[in-house]
Amino acid sequence: MSNRKNLPKDLIKQKLLKGEITFARCGPQMFLKWKDTRDVLVMSTVHNADLAPVTVRSKVGPLEKFKPQVIIDYNKYKTGVDHGDQIIAYYPFNRKTMKWWKKMFFHLFMVSTVNSFILHKKTKKVKNENLRLRNFMINLASQLANQSDSYSRFNEVSDSENRLKGRHFISKIPPTLSKAHPRRVCKVCAEKAKRSTGNRGRKETSYYCSSCNTPLCVDECFEIYHTKQNYWMIFLVAFQRELSVLERDSK
Ligand SMILES: [Zn+2]
Ligand SMILES: [Zn+2]
Repeated sequence: MSNRKNLPKDLIKQKLLKGEITFARCGPQMFLKWKDTRDVLVMSTVHNADLAPVTVRSKVGPLEKFKPQVIIDYNKYKTGVDHGDQIIAYYPFNRKTMKWWKKMFFHLFMVSTVNSFILHKKTKKVKNENLRLRNFMINLASQLANQSDSYSRFNEVSDSENRLKGRHFISKIPPTLSKAHPRRVCKVCAEKAKRSTGNRGRKETSYYCSSCNTPLCVDECFEIYHTKQNYWMIFLVAFQRELSVLERDSK
């Protein structure tokens, strides 16, 4: 952190003895350097440079020492953040092609998901200690995928009314004059690619739904296209895949 732009350079370079502090302030931001066994740099918008007594363990028994309040608070509250980050790390949304702001979005999305999971567990009337984040996420995903009418009211209803209802059968794309085995780009793969990378997907298929006149991959996309309102949401599709793995494992 010490090489970040606009930090007070002279403060960073300043040599301190053990237990000494130095600090600078700019508006609501406070920058503090404290030497414990090594240099510790912190920034805060809610602290000042006050010291507070703490009892520390030492070879000769408990000892009272003074530490900056900002360090005490950091040590007190960081475990919650570490714990949250750890939970999130189990379900990484790592996609190499993703733009940074989409990574950012998914990270914040996961932070909100984990927070609501924790609140859900705390406030639920029927306590379910065994509820796991994975199952919570799968439920959340199905709810988001199936009940987002308000979002799609303007652009998707006529399309989805046909798509999600009625009878749909998979058939081979019929031959044309120029091609005996024509292939077309899968609609689901194309939408997913368009919305995650900005480029049109190129995954081709020889199959299509004849009632929708829509090319679709046989394995996953045909089912997703006819069952999910927002079939292009890649994370929902990923959840859906996980759900089918779970269902298969639990049999
Ligand atoms: Zn169809
Ligand atoms: Zn596909």
